[in-house]
Amino acid sequence: MLDLDRRSVPGLENAVIVRNAYAIEYDCINATQLKASLEFKEIDGLFSAGQSNGSSGYEEAAAQGIIAGINAAMKLLGKDPLILDRSDAYIGVLIDDLVTKETSEPYRMMTSRAEYRLLLRQDYADLRLYEYGHRAGLLSDERYNAVVEKKRIIEEEVQRLSETSVGTSAKIQEFLRAHGSTELTSGSTLAELIRRPELSYEAIADIDPERPEVSETTAEQINIEIKYEGYIKRQRIQVDQFRKLEKKLIPEGIDYDDVPSLRIEARQKLKKMRPASIGQASRISGVSPADINVLLVYLGRNRD
Ligand SMILES: Cc1cc2nc3c(=O)[nH]c(=O)nc-3n(C[C@H](O)[C@H](O)[C@H](O)COP(=O)(O)OP(=O)(O)OC[C@H]3O[C@@H](n4cnc5c(N)ncnc54)[C@H](O)[C@@H]3O)c2cc1C
Repeated sequence: MLDLDRRSVPGLENAVIVRNAYAIEYDCINATQLKASLEFKEIDGLFSAGQSNGSSGYEEAAAQGIIAGINAAMKLLGKDPLILDRSDAYIGVLIDDLVTKETSEPYRMMTSRAEYRLLLRQDYADLRLYEYGHRAGLLSDERYNAVVEKKRIIEEEVQRLSETSVGTSAKIQEFLRAHGSTELTSGSTLAELIRRPELSYEAIADIDPERPEVSETTAEQINIEIKYEGYIKRQRIQVDQFRKLEKKLIPEGIDYDDVPSLRIEARQKLKKMRPASIGQASRISGVSPADINVLLVYLGRNRD
């Protein structure tokens, strides 16, 4: 890859050199030449991953390697590429950063680069990614069905706990006192009790005789879904808004010189990067929220 004669390969003329902290210098491509599938925009069928995309780190290289490998196979099979977005996985954040932002130093995936950290937790990676894995042919039907079943149990349990009320009986008050929790003055649902910092799904087992037998990892998810419901819901709303912007496509032939009121830096960056969507445009450094509003107004006026 690095030995390719760049001048003779369309798309590789923009290669850059980055210098690692341990003073190791290496050639890398300008990753904005890649699609989110890690295929070159200009070289059909050539995929690029790892350090040669300007990243550094074993995990970064491995994460891109698996996506580029999957997508090379998907291409040969005539299937849609596997693209994880910024709310699906850290891999999505990593690749989106590489292909939409210019890298001036070796890229490391830091959690602070992700906007939706609450949804990118590792504790439920199976529930988050099983659909993608199955669609790509990487997850057997058996394992897929096991995750579907786990999801069903979690949803039913969360629903049941939100609908099951307990009164102010002596047994309940005694239970709360024993756990250092404030006694009830009126009825409460089991979900409300789980939300108390000193209680949990596991802790309230004694006052919840109806509960089904569930695995440890399923119980953990039920607990998290209930305890952090408010925060998780808020972040899911943000993700819905983000996905709307990803779906707002920018026409390929747009002439940014025709868009009035764009700042010069934003105009230059947009002309150079040619983002596919408003979502992508909003992540280009040098393009501000005000520029995005200008662009949205322009696209709205020039629809059709
Ligand atoms: C001293 C040092 C310490 C590091 N420490 C850490 C660390 O602690 N933690 C961490 O996460 N990362 C660390 N890294 C970074 C990490 O090693 C790299 O980011 C990662 O290995 C990059 O993987 P890669 O597969 O993209 O590239 P590489 O591992 O460089 O693999 C590229 C492969 O391509 C082959 N190749 C090159 N040209 C051609 C060609 N023309 N034809 C065929 N094959 C070719 C090379 O021989 C090589 O096998 C360290 C790196 C260095 C140098």
